Amino acid sequence: MNIDHLRSNGHRNGRSALVQRKPKRVDYPRLLALGRELLLAIGEDPEREGLQETPRRWADSWREFMEYDPGTTETTFSSSASDQMVCVSGIRVASLCEHHLLPFWCDVSIGYIPNEKVLGLSKFARIAQQFAHRLQLQEQLGQQIADEITRITGTQNVAVVLKGEHYCMTARGIRSPGRMTSSVMRGVFRTESLTRMEFLRLIE
Ligand SMILES: [Zn+2]
Repeated sequence: MNIDHLRSNGHRNGRSALVQRKPKRVDYPRLLALGRELLLAIGEDPEREGLQETPRRWADSWREFMEYDPGTTETTFSSSASDQMVCVSGIRVASLCEHHLLPFWCDVSIGYIPNEKVLGLSKFARIAQQFAHRLQLQEQLGQQIADEITRITGTQNVAVVLKGEHYCMTARGIRSPGRMTSSVMRGVFRTESLTRMEFLRLIE
């Protein structure tokens, strides 16, 4: 880990602010070899019909996931509507649990009260996708989305609710279907229960 990078980011709000924004590049030849190795490790024959192209498809899907580019996420415009709550819900992202390397899906709802800078509507989904496309934990995903909205718009009044379905829970281990809900409430969403309730009602 690059120490200068750590220092230059510093620590915001007591949380580690070492957040990577640019997608990571994969080592594609290594992924290809690993795909083949994986088939061998589970007792398969990589040469049999049906599996010959599997290492390539597998490497492609990892590359596509890890190198996902969310496009422009920082377009803001100024607004005087600083007393309005803005809610965006129905954003669905797929991510990868960093404990099991298995997928999880999250429905993301975001609320914020802008200071002066208002974020373009499509940017919320882009920001959520940006942080979903990496090895992740649901709780951390919510915090990173909230941090990013604060960083771009300058407001501390941000709420993020995630409802996640985790493959590592439904298909292995206890094999029980279940949804995990996590929320990040900051600024007035934390201190004002009426604001929080209004947000929760709007995203229902
Ligand atoms: Zn997991």
